[in-house]
Amino acid sequence: MRILLDNFSKSFGSTKVIENMRLEVAGGEMLALLGPSGCGKSTTLFAVCGIHRPTGGRIFFGDRDVTDLPSQARNVGVVFQSYALYPHMTVAENIGFPLKVKGAPAAEIRKEVDRIAALVQIGKLMDRRPSELSGGQQQRVALARALIRKPDVLLLDEPLANLDAKLRLEMRSEIRRLQRETGITAILVTHDQVEAMSMCDRIAIMKEGEIVQIATPAEMYNNPKTAFVAGFLGNPP
Ligand code: ADP
Ligand code: MG
Repeated sequence: MRILLDNFSKSFGSTKVIENMRLEVAGGEMLALLGPSGCGKSTTLFAVCGIHRPTGGRIFFGDRDVTDLPSQARNVGVVFQSYALYPHMTVAENIGFPLKVKGAPAAEIRKEVDRIAALVQIGKLMDRRPSELSGGQQQRVALARALIRKPDVLLLDEPLANLDAKLRLEMRSEIRRLQRETGITAILVTHDQVEAMSMCDRIAIMKEGEIVQIATPAEMYNNPKTAFVAGFLGNPP
């Protein structure tokens, strides 16, 4: 499902964070929003997610204008840095929760939970509580929960920031595999250039609320448009 931000703007009070941004993510594509802390990555993602209302512009999923729809009506899966699993629920209950809220019958929930648990390879952990899981396992549960409703769009905000280096590497390829297998359109917010380069089809580099360059990792690495992009990628001209 294509995502389009058309003339997107967002202010908080008198502070303009994003002004007239245009961003198009193709169906099935995984795009990184990459840039230093405070440049407006999360603000952009929250608008796609429906957590924030834009101050200006429209947001489309395919041909559908979702700007005025609440998050629940957008069919998005989200994974943020803090996993926010429900501590009192088992893994299976956590994953099935979005379907339960929708009023799905128990048998269907069980079937879907099993399907998605196999996809993220946590089938053996279903009866555990989040406190009994490693960081990487918790992140897999969060991914499973985000994917169970077969969302049109997967939104990831620094999903690996809390993991140690080894797990981060493992989860990079894991998330990419899941994205490819499901063919879901995904946006990954990160300040880690290696993560963006290794996981995404294209990278949009942001600086102070603007997209400075948008290109494939190879194009960007070989032909950075500005000194900022080159510096950020660690390849000064
Ligand atoms: P990033 O995710 O790239 O680190 P953010 O999108 O979180 O950056 O923030 C971009 C700018 O918007 C920052 O200057 C931040 O302080 C400001 N900002 C974000 N959310 C709010 C808010 N709810 N109220 C006021 N300012 C905000
Ligand atoms: Mg952020």
